[in-house]
Amino acid sequence: MNYSRRKTITVHAGSLPIGGDAPISVQSMTNIPISQVKATIEQIIQLQQEGAELVRLAVRTEDDAQFIKEIKKEVSVPLCADIHFNYRIALKAIEYGIDKLRINPGNIGAKEHVVTLVKAASQKNIPIRIGVNSGSVDVKRYGQVNPHTLVASAMEHVQILEDCGYTNIVVSIKSSDLLQTIEANRIFASKCRYPIHIGLTEASYGTDCIIASSMVIGTLLYEGIGDTIRVSMTGNPVNEVQIAKRILQIGGYRFRPFTIIACPTCGRTDTKLDILELTQKVESMLKSNFEKTLIEKQKHITVAVMGCEVNGPGEARHADVGIAGARDGRVVLFVNGEKKKILDATDAVGALADEISQRII
Ligand code: SF4
Repeated sequence: MNYSRRKTITVHAGSLPIGGDAPISVQSMTNIPISQVKATIEQIIQLQQEGAELVRLAVRTEDDAQFIKEIKKEVSVPLCADIHFNYRIALKAIEYGIDKLRINPGNIGAKEHVVTLVKAASQKNIPIRIGVNSGSVDVKRYGQVNPHTLVASAMEHVQILEDCGYTNIVVSIKSSDLLQTIEANRIFASKCRYPIHIGLTEASYGTDCIIASSMVIGTLLYEGIGDTIRVSMTGNPVNEVQIAKRILQIGGYRFRPFTIIACPTCGRTDTKLDILELTQKVESMLKSNFEKTLIEKQKHITVAVMGCEVNGPGEARHADVGIAGARDGRVVLFVNGEKKKILDATDAVGALADEISQRII
């Protein structure tokens, strides 16, 4: 897909570039106290295996920060320390090898604290993410929370770092309100060239979270805004990583090894066929047999599972290979839009696998 991405500077969180021409990255956050080091390491590894490219950890005390050193030895994905108010924790996190900080410079007190922090971050080239959300806007100073006050709050933190000569910055502006988040990011993007971390905050869980996050992230990415994303979802963070990765793949922003086209079925579908079950089996076959090879070869294939042969092959003409329901529990196998043979539905997944391995990969 061609889209015009907003030009941003590039910063580096360890090995991960954020902004500029770098791929839009997926990030997540652990939900275990960092003091539970073994469990934290296991969760970070799991998140990385699912596709997280940066993992954030809540670091609440200076004592907490020491665990970063131990964790860093066991994981390869870059880590971000989430710190509130206390710049000394940030200094410790830097000392122990953190790759990125999430801290708001306006909340850490005296200017000399910011200067000290910036000096330490600068020596190790550590980006600082300013994170403003609807709950953190100082309403006494700014009045009600709206896109403009969210941006004003973010700009104030940015200005504090810039006044110290620091531009190794990422910014996030989030709300649980979709339009507020979209509009605030639009305004901010028009003012600055810093990379933007996009997503909603407190986006709930399950279907509502998936829909709301997809709408906000999808809208902003389509407008060229966003350099790294997080889907904030209540529950196991593995879920949010899977969803974030799918948003980027389905939106065309990251490589997608295969696409499955499946029809919704209708009254023309043979009652002896379970198209949902067939589609799930096809997906499972593609994942286990072909996903790794497709990624290695950077090759994309499209596979169709359609309910009837009247419209199926036509509607899925652009698929590389596919099946369409016929009569009495049988399906038509088609390749590049051409019907090839009719077979029993129980043999369909195997026949698709054969066609893919013989002709396509
Ligand atoms: S492909 Fe056939 S079964 Fe599926 S929705 Fe279209 S007409 Fe109905």
